[in-house]
Amino acid sequence: MSNIHGYCPFCSANLDGDLVINYPLTEGKTMEEALEYAKDYSGWSEHKEKNRWGRATALYSIVKDRVIGYRCPDCNETWDRGKK
Ligand SMILES: [Zn+2]
Repeated sequence: MSNIHGYCPFCSANLDGDLVINYPLTEGKTMEEALEYAKDYSGWSEHKEKNRWGRATALYSIVKDRVIGYRCPDCNETWDRGKK
């Protein structure tokens, strides 16, 4: 897998979104503040400032209290967690 969040198993859309640090930067934060912000998100330890948001929507089960699947933002297909 060459990207962070993989590809849609149905339409092959790239599921990587914007860089996490871009959000605070567009809000006028300094790079130092942006890096502090980015450290709170999963994936920081692996990807650091290259970490990206995932574009797929996580499908959360209240009953199971965990994410059970994902939905593609481009084709709206859903798949089980761990199957991509
Ligand atoms: Zn798709």
